[in-house]
Amino acid sequence: GIYLDYNATTPVDPVVFHAMEPYFKEHFGNPASAAHHWGWIAENATNKARTQVASLIGAKPNEITFTAGATESNNWAIFGLISKLREENPQEPLHFITSTVEHSSIMKAMAAAEKLGVEVDFLPVNSYGQVEIETLKKAIKPHTKLMSFIWVNNEIGTINPIAEIAKIAKENQIYFHTDATQAFGKLPMNVTDLGIDLMSFSAHKVYGPKGIGGLYIRSKDPKVLINPLIYGGGQEKGLRSGTLNVPAIVGMGVAAELCKNTLEHEYERQLQLRNFFWEKLKAAIPGIILNGHPTERAPNNLNVSFPGHKSEQLLPRLQKLGVSTGSACGTGSMSLSHVLLGIGVAPDVVPCTLRLSIGRWTTQEELERAVEILKGSISH
Ligand code: PMP
Repeated sequence: GIYLDYNATTPVDPVVFHAMEPYFKEHFGNPASAAHHWGWIAENATNKARTQVASLIGAKPNEITFTAGATESNNWAIFGLISKLREENPQEPLHFITSTVEHSSIMKAMAAAEKLGVEVDFLPVNSYGQVEIETLKKAIKPHTKLMSFIWVNNEIGTINPIAEIAKIAKENQIYFHTDATQAFGKLPMNVTDLGIDLMSFSAHKVYGPKGIGGLYIRSKDPKVLINPLIYGGGQEKGLRSGTLNVPAIVGMGVAAELCKNTLEHEYERQLQLRNFFWEKLKAAIPGIILNGHPTERAPNNLNVSFPGHKSEQLLPRLQKLGVSTGSACGTGSMSLSHVLLGIGVAPDVVPCTLRLSIGRWTTQEELERAVEILKGSISH
């Protein structure tokens, strides 16, 4: 088969797997066991990984906290900030701004925050899926405390104007969080230069293992921006308790380093392959529509609609292709994609949509075959 669902998840790179292996075996120690070398080896390994991750995003190692993935990081950013702000000033009204095209872990956490009394604005986006700066400026209120926007949209690949948004947040003394899960390791970034306060990311989208990710928390000595979400033994400077998942952390570190070393080359390679794919699809399938921004999009993503052809009916004819009918994240949900509706795709065209995402091992020959298979399924 041909795997075209790298935005859902990626295989672990063999180099990553190899680096993780000893930490399941002889280096099985607990990094919190400071009394012996089993503990020290594990602690050194997690420190190295922290440095590797920090280096990829332009942060300091002590600004990286490991979590179980971007879902946890997104939830933590929101509820950890609410907890902190309420602790500092219980009477203060809170207003958060996000968009209508966020990942479900932001959409649903924000909806839960509303139930806790936080006023949340879900800003509409333009037809490409981007936050409009003028709309954002108008939404700011005196008590706005947080802006949270996705960096690269997981369904349509659109890139948000993160630098401009961060600037506006800073000017208005509003915390800025970004869900960078689909940008991490794919786009060059420097969180320090951009002035981002909080950033979520995950290893399994970039050839690392599943169930590990992190939250970047800008250091603001001596205070931390947010309270913990998970309390316990005080690991991760008390910010995120629980024995560290050492093999997974080592894997994420090596995955980050591989991304850093290959980012420029892979960006260009995948961009060319993706553009080749789109040109071939456009020529082969009349009526095909590209959703999202034509150029300001992740180099590995296509999101296309075939009006009149429900993807549900296409899937049985696409058995050899690993593609997605939206985001893989909304497990089993048959509801229409809120992202496609959010950018104004007609409700009857939304179900006729496929996300095709390429990655480190995609070849031109695979894409040529994929075009033939897709063409055959449509003309069926
Ligand atoms: N945010 C975005 C933009 C994503 O694409 C994903 C993964 N589908 C997540 C958050 C959740 O990440 P994780 O699987 O690490 O919880």
